[in-house]
Amino acid sequence: MSSLLENLESVREKIAAAADRAGRNVSEIELVAVSKTHPAEVIREAVDAGQELFGENRVQEALAKIPMLPGKLRWHLIGHLQSNKIRKALPHFELIHGVDSLDLARDIDRIAAEEGVFPRILLEVNVSGEGSKHGFESAVLERHLEELLAMPRLQIEGFMTMAPLAPEAEASRPHFRSLRELRDRLAQRAGISFPTLSMGMSGDYAVGVEEGATLVRVGSAIFGSR
Ligand SMILES: *Cc1c(COP(=O)(O)O)cnc(C)c1O
Repeated sequence: MSSLLENLESVREKIAAAADRAGRNVSEIELVAVSKTHPAEVIREAVDAGQELFGENRVQEALAKIPMLPGKLRWHLIGHLQSNKIRKALPHFELIHGVDSLDLARDIDRIAAEEGVFPRILLEVNVSGEGSKHGFESAVLERHLEELLAMPRLQIEGFMTMAPLAPEAEASRPHFRSLRELRDRLAQRAGISFPTLSMGMSGDYAVGVEEGATLVRVGSAIFGSR
């Protein structure tokens, strides 16, 4: 059994190697350690190993753990956000990865106005059109981009995707590449940059980095299986 420290080092090394292969600077890529289902004690071990950015997919679970951990940690909400959890989530997460519908975006925008905040978000895209039940289809996103960008409170920093489950990491490559190309196209059309691409999990984060990810969301390769 390898230790959490060894796992973290190995993931960081593989991110660096993938960045190198792609001719990218490793400082462009941040590792989101996905700590969902793991208790605060285990997260603290990762903190001791130098990790400060964590991803959780359930608001309730995260809000129970966050107060038990150092205040310097940064938290990303990576899973689907239910509208009735938005108000609770906003103060605790620096980035919301999974904004996957116009209705959810509208709700976040409205509640953010009431709370006086400007949440940073990523739009989740179902680039493959299969696998995930969440996420904008690319064509729908293209159609609604202007409306999304007009929501005054949302800081739309980029895009997130989950590739369909596959035994081979390489199977994710075309989906990750599609997301990057979609990002490039939308950025050009809107005349703004979308610097953040969240793509890659334990099975395919190296491919994500090769295809331009700036955030990789890695759980089991760090913490072991859930
Ligand atoms: C659980 C989860 C991850 C991490 O998955 P692993 O395969 O354990 O690395 C990444 N992204 C999302 C959205 C998740 O829900």
